[in-house]
Amino acid sequence: MLKYTNSLIQKISFNKTHFYIKRDDLLDVDFSGNKARKLYYFLYNDLKNTNKIISYGSAQSNTLSSLAILAKYKNMKLDFYVNHIPTFLTNKPQGNYKKALENNANIISTKHINYNENLNTYIQKIILKHENNYIFIPEGASCKQAEFGIKILANEIKKWTKTNKINKLKIFLPSGTGTSSLFLQKNLKEFEILTCACVGDDEYLKKQFKMLETNELLHPKIIRLNKKYHFGKLYKEFFEIHNELLKQTKIEFDLLYDSLGWITLEKYIQNNKSLESYDILYIHQGGLLGNESMKARYLHKYQISF
Ligand SMILES: *Cc1c(COP(=O)(O)O)cnc(C)c1O
Repeated sequence: MLKYTNSLIQKISFNKTHFYIKRDDLLDVDFSGNKARKLYYFLYNDLKNTNKIISYGSAQSNTLSSLAILAKYKNMKLDFYVNHIPTFLTNKPQGNYKKALENNANIISTKHINYNENLNTYIQKIILKHENNYIFIPEGASCKQAEFGIKILANEIKKWTKTNKINKLKIFLPSGTGTSSLFLQKNLKEFEILTCACVGDDEYLKKQFKMLETNELLHPKIIRLNKKYHFGKLYKEFFEIHNELLKQTKIEFDLLYDSLGWITLEKYIQNNKSLESYDILYIHQGGLLGNESMKARYLHKYQISF
C-alpha cells in the first residue's frame, strides 16, 4: 500500500528567504499530515482480532478525524473519549469533529462521569477492562508504532537529499507531543532536526522525547522564544504570519502549530548567521481541517477575515 506516502517537496520563498516545503498536507484528501504518518503502521499492518480502535483527546483534534478515517478504511469502530464537547461544536459541527462524525466515529463525552485521575488513567483502568478485541492508541497517536510511518518520511527526505545533492540541511517541524520530530531525528541522524514546543513548555516536550527515546543524543533541538504562547489561544501575530505565508507562497498552513513554528524559525534564522550556508526544509504536517473553527474565532475576536 504505497498510497499516503511520497509527498512532494516544493521550493518557496518567504520574506526573501528560500525554504523547501515537504507537502505532507497533500498526502491524501482524507488521510494526510503527520497523523497519517503516525498512524500508517495501523493502516498498513493486519491488526488481527481487532474490531475497534479506542483513543481519547480533544473533540477538535486532527487525531480524532484521522482515527475516524483509519477506522473506516480498516472496517473497524472508533470509540473516542473526550473531556467535553464544546457547545459551539454540538450546535454546529465543523472541522475535525464534523469529519469524524461523518465517518461514524463514536465520540464519548466523559463530562458527567466522575473519575479521580486523568482521562488516560480512567480509560486504562475502567473502560478497557470491559472491552475486547480493541487496539488502544494514546492521545495524539504518541506511541512506538508511530515510528514506522515517520521512518518512511525520513527515507523520503534522505532520497531527496541524495538526488539533489543537498548535504547541508536543517529540518524544521513544530511539535505537540513531539512524536513526529523525535522519530524523524532518530531516523535521520545525518541532519539536525529543529522544533518548538507548541502544546506544553520545553520541559514537557523534553519529557515526551525521553519517554520515546532515552538517548538524548537522538533528541531534536528545541528552539525557545522569549514570549510564552499558550496552546489554542489566539494571537494577532499568528494570523498575521498565516496570512503572509498564504499571500507569498500560496500555501495554507495550520493556525495552531505552524504559525508558532514559522515565527520561531524566522527568529532562529535571524539570530544564527551560520544557517545561511544551509538549506532549510519545513515539514507541512497538515491539520487544515482545524483551521475552520480557528478562523471563526479570529474573526470574532479581531474582526479579521482570512
Ligand atoms: C498533531 C500535529 C502536530 C504535532 O505533532 P506531534 O507529533 O504530536 O508533535 C503538529 N502540526 C500539526 C498540523 C498537527 O496536526
